[in-house]
This record gives sequence, structure tokens and C-alpha cells, in this order.
Amino acid sequence: MIVGINCGHTVSGTVGSGAVGFLNESNETRRVGYKVMEYLRAKGVTVVDCTDDYSSTVSGNLKKIVDKANAQPLDLFVSIHFNSGGGRGTEVYTYNGEVFKQAELVCENMAELGFINRGIKNGSNLYVIRRSNARSMLIEVCFVDTESDADLYNEVGADRIAEAISDAIVGEKMEEELTMSQYEELKQMISEQTARVDVLQNEVYKIENPMIYNYIDDNMPDWAKEAVRWCVDNGIIVGTGSGLGLDDTKLWTCVVMYRLSKTLK
Ligand SMILES: [Zn+2]
Repeated sequence: MIVGINCGHTVSGTVGSGAVGFLNESNETRRVGYKVMEYLRAKGVTVVDCTDDYSSTVSGNLKKIVDKANAQPLDLFVSIHFNSGGGRGTEVYTYNGEVFKQAELVCENMAELGFINRGIKNGSNLYVIRRSNARSMLIEVCFVDTESDADLYNEVGADRIAEAISDAIVGEKMEEELTMSQYEELKQMISEQTARVDVLQNEVYKIENPMIYNYIDDNMPDWAKEAVRWCVDNGIIVGTGSGLGLDDTKLWTCVVMYRLSKTLK
């Protein structure tokens, strides 16, 4: 698979540079775009960098971008931009608004990151879409002049956005990752369940391994000692040679008998 990636516009502050608002389009297209290229190469995709940093005119910039794209037999050409003019979310432009999987996945993966899905739109009037030979899409990541979009962009970060786009290009739905709060919630649930299991195991252990008191010593509960002593002295319980063999129920029985003897006196 050969994919052409264009970081939209020339570099910031030159002829043909992008929109500036809460974000600088030329700078951010490069932050996202070069990460997309890196991630695609890691996925085994052959990447052609179709970025043009300097041109004397806007039309010259557009022509150089398309010339780079058309110099290779690309399977897909992707131009990365940021929107302006007020609005929120991600939109993708294709020739005649054609809906194809990678374009749909860009919108879906970006929505996964919290960006509003503005859908696929007709980009036939856009030079890079109209003139590139390969199937193409122009991604408007989000709005540079909408503060909430810029905040979300900064919070999510260029790397995650590049991951969302590169996954979409190779036809993958982005792997869902837990948010920090979901992670904390899950951790809390696991520790609560673990504590419950510990309590249950302890109960089961006690049932399977009842405490046996063989001697009137420190192991025996204080509340039972006097009663057990009385039972032994009166021959009510007799040791087996290896101890008295009393469990909790028998201790309690000794106590009941001892108290009963007192009331009968
Ligand atoms: Zn742009």
C-alpha cells in the first residue's frame, strides 16, 4: 500500500500558510501529519511525503503538492488541514462526496476521541482533491478558531489524533483505550471484588478448618475458660489424651452447662 500524506499549507508565517486562531493550522498539520507518516510506516505502509513548506503563491503551493502526489502510483492521497470560520468537529472532503471506508473511519475514530462527526462532504472544488490522480481525502481535523475544539485538541494531543487517522487509513477502527476516570473506576471495582473474595475465602477456610481447642491455655477464648475448667473438674468432658478437642460449639455448650449449674444451685 502506498499512501501520500500532505501536511496542509506552507509553514507558518509564509505565503500560503494556514489559518490561525487558538491553534496555528500550519504548525498543527505538521505535528499531526508527520506522526501519521511515522505510524503508517510502522504499519508497513509506504509513505510519500507530499508536503510543500515554501511557495511564492498559494496556487504554486497547491500545484507542488499535487505534483508530488501524482509522481507516485498512490493508493490513497490524504491532505491534512484544520478548519476555521466557526464550528466544531471533524469533517472529511472527498471527490463528489464519495463515501469510502477510510474516510468514514477518520470521522468515527475522531468521534471516539470526542470530536463531533461532521461527516463526509463534497470536496470536488478543492484543488488537491480534484487534481490528484489517486483516490483522495482532505481531513479538517477541527476548528482552529473554536476554543472548545482547540482545548479538546490540546487535551487529546497530536499523537492520539495521528493514531486515529493512521488507523483509519489502513482501515482499522481505533483501538479503544480507557480514559483515566474509567481506569480508576475499574481499578476500584477490582479492589472491592478482591476484598470480597478475601472475606469469602476466610469464611470458607473457617468452615473447613474449625478452630480446635485442646488445652485451657492462651489460645482458648477468655469467655470459655472458666466454664471449660468446671466441665473438666466435674468430669463432664474428658480429654482424649491428645487434648480436649473442643470446637466453638462445644465451648459454648460448656458455658451453657456451667451457667445452668449455677442457676440450679
Ligand atoms: Zn487549510
